[in-house]
Amino acid sequence: MTAPIPFERPVFVTRPVLPPLGDYVALLETVWQSHALTNMGPMHQMLERAIGDRLGVGQVALWNNGTSALMGAIRALDLRGKVVVTPFTFPATVHAIALLGLEPIFADIDEESLTIDPAKITEVLVDEVSGIMGTHVYGRLCDTAGIFEVAQASGLKVVYDGAHSFSRNPPIFPDDPTVLGDITTLSFHATKLFHSVEGGATITSDPELDRRLRLLRNFGIASESDVELIGMNGKLSEVHAAMGIAMLGMIEGEIAQREGVASAYIAGLEGVDGIRIVAGNAQSMQYFVVRVDPDAFGSDRDSLFDTLRSMNVVARKYFSPLCSDMEPYSALPSAQNLPIARAVASQVLALPFYGGMSTDDATRITDIVKWHHDGNRR
Ligand SMILES: *Cc1c(COP(=O)(O)O)cnc(C)c1O
Repeated sequence: MTAPIPFERPVFVTRPVLPPLGDYVALLETVWQSHALTNMGPMHQMLERAIGDRLGVGQVALWNNGTSALMGAIRALDLRGKVVVTPFTFPATVHAIALLGLEPIFADIDEESLTIDPAKITEVLVDEVSGIMGTHVYGRLCDTAGIFEVAQASGLKVVYDGAHSFSRNPPIFPDDPTVLGDITTLSFHATKLFHSVEGGATITSDPELDRRLRLLRNFGIASESDVELIGMNGKLSEVHAAMGIAMLGMIEGEIAQREGVASAYIAGLEGVDGIRIVAGNAQSMQYFVVRVDPDAFGSDRDSLFDTLRSMNVVARKYFSPLCSDMEPYSALPSAQNLPIARAVASQVLALPFYGGMSTDDATRITDIVKWHHDGNRR
């Protein structure tokens, strides 16, 4: 195989999708005319309804980002003491627990789904645990039925970080607490397939929880004369909500383009020993992730990462390091023994994946992977 030609400019793991500027400006003109800039204004309400309709759930509350949605969820459920959480997630999931003064307890993940394993949750349960937080990794659902069972048996609340799952179509959010948990959160950060630059949401099938979430989002203010609980400022501004509205029209086209890129990746990687595709095929169009089995592939993930980097392909080791290995958490007893998560974190690699890429770019990237596999190193 002849040496691949490096990309002229870096190809990053993602590139935010943008609506036509004119569409956004037209919405901003409405904002300018109304002088309503935030506090659940018309754009916010329109986006909240539109997202509820798309997901097929009634009780969606928008937030200013996914992290405050997670913190709102923990407060709405009044979690105390300790919360069992996956180590294989973005830091925000674990930080939300710790920032509120609670202690995370890590439980290992399932080898196949890469999500928190209900059997491992049972193993780490102690009296002070009040809740469970799982992440639908790359849009792959947690074992929601298994987690529901553990939660019911021990009287625990369940929060799902669904930051990766919104793009999935058809959506994964039935109005069903066995699947939604008590609360599911979303992120609309710029790097997600659907975004409002910054933004997030909570989903619940419980009207009382939904009411508490909305209070928490707005300083606990129930009425002009009544502050009912300790709340925060988690409101999505009109400028951000308008971006979300403009982006709603972009999702299906972006998914279709990504499907083309995914097909090129899948075709190019077929038959390469030691490379397994774990995201980018059906579960979600948010990421395209492979797992590198070092024995079968003949080199490890980090070495492949370096070769790709030398060719101007900026892949991401997503999620590596594990949250349990990060400075604030690495001394916790539960951080010490997570063999599956640790092995998985050393093998995953998110390849560049966005609609603006050509299928040709994807094929060139798979050629680099094959070239590396054939024993060439940079
Ligand atoms: C992006 C992301 C978040 C954080 O969301 P923000 O909107 O950036 O606060 C949380 N969890 C996961 C799994 C994410 O991917």
